[in-house]
Amino acid sequence: MSKEQSAETITKHIDAIVSQLQRKNAKVAFFVGAGISTNCGIPDFRSPKTGLYSNLRKLNLPYPEAVFDIEYFREKPKAFYTLAEELFPGKFVPSKFHYFIKLCHDKGILKRCYTQNIDTLERIAGISDDKVLEAHGSFSGNHCIECSNEMSREKLREFMDQERIPTCASCEGYVKPDIVFFGEALPAKLWEFWEEDVDDVDVAIVAGTSLAVYPFASLPAEVGKKANRILINREICGDFETNPRKSDIVLLKDCDTIAELLCEKLGWSKDLESLWLAGNKSVRDTTENETEDSSSQKDKAAAIATEIAEKVEAGLESDRKEEKNEKDKDVDVLADAVRKVSIT
Ligand SMILES: [Zn+2]
Repeated sequence: MSKEQSAETITKHIDAIVSQLQRKNAKVAFFVGAGISTNCGIPDFRSPKTGLYSNLRKLNLPYPEAVFDIEYFREKPKAFYTLAEELFPGKFVPSKFHYFIKLCHDKGILKRCYTQNIDTLERIAGISDDKVLEAHGSFSGNHCIECSNEMSREKLREFMDQERIPTCASCEGYVKPDIVFFGEALPAKLWEFWEEDVDDVDVAIVAGTSLAVYPFASLPAEVGKKANRILINREICGDFETNPRKSDIVLLKDCDTIAELLCEKLGWSKDLESLWLAGNKSVRDTTENETEDSSSQKDKAAAIATEIAEKVEAGLESDRKEEKNEKDKDVDVLADAVRKVSIT
C-alpha cells in the first residue's frame, strides 16, 4: 500500500468510521501507542531516529534498554530516576487524539482504552480508571521492588524533589513506579479486561502504534469477528498487514488530524476544542512552561529525547563519581581546574 492516501480515500474512510460510531449502543475499544503522545512532546521510545533508545545507545549504559531493566535498576536505580524526572506526569498535555477517546467516553460508547504508554495522559484527559488499561504499567502507582509495599505519589515525589532514590519504609528496598520493566509480568488486569472485551467490541481502533511489542500487538489480531478494525498510523503494520480482514479500514495519517476530522463529522468539534484548551491551560498554570505551537512540537520531542539522554548520562556520571573515594574526587577537581585553565 502506498504511504500517501488521497483526500477522497480519507474522506470515504472517515465517513465509514463515523457511521460505525453512530450506531446505537456501539462499543468502541482503543489500542494505542507512543504515536498518540508524540505530538504532546513525549519522545517515542522505539522510534529509531527521535527515539529515546537511539539516544541512550550513545551512552555508557551496558545496553539502552537497561534503563528499564529490573536487575539493572536493583543495582543502579539512578539512570531510571533521571529519566523518570523528565517523563513524570504533570508537564505534558494530552493530545487531541486523547481527548477524542475522552469524548467517546463522555458519549457512552467507550468500552475500553488499552494503552502501551506509561505517560498517564489517558487519565489526565479524564478517562476513568475502569476504562483505561495501561498494559505496560504507568506512573499511577508505586511499589517497593522487594516487599511490594505501596508508596503514595506524593511521597515518591518528595524523594525525587530531594534528588534521593525512593526507598521502602519497611524494608529499605528501592521503590519504583508501576511501569512494567523488562523481566516483569504485565498487569493481571490486562487479561481480566481482555477476557471481558475480546468478543464484545463493535469498533476496534488501533492508533499510533506499529504493533511491534507483544503480547499487546496480538490484541487487535484476537479481537472478535464482529468488530470493525481501524488502523490510524503513519504506516500499515501488524495484523493489518499480515492478516487483513475484509472490513479493515486503514488511515495512514497523523492521529490528531484524524481525531479532528472525526470530531468534525460527529459534531464534536466544539467539545474537542474546549477540552484541549482547558487541558493546555491547566498544565500551563501548574508548570509555568511556555507554550509552543503544534508545528514545533515534533522538534521539541526530538530535543527532549536528546536532553533526557544527556541527563541520564549525567546521572550515571555522578553515580560513578559517588563510587570513587575522596582522593579520586580531589583528582577530578584538579583535572577540571586544569581543563578550565587550558580552555581560557
Ligand atoms: Zn519494601
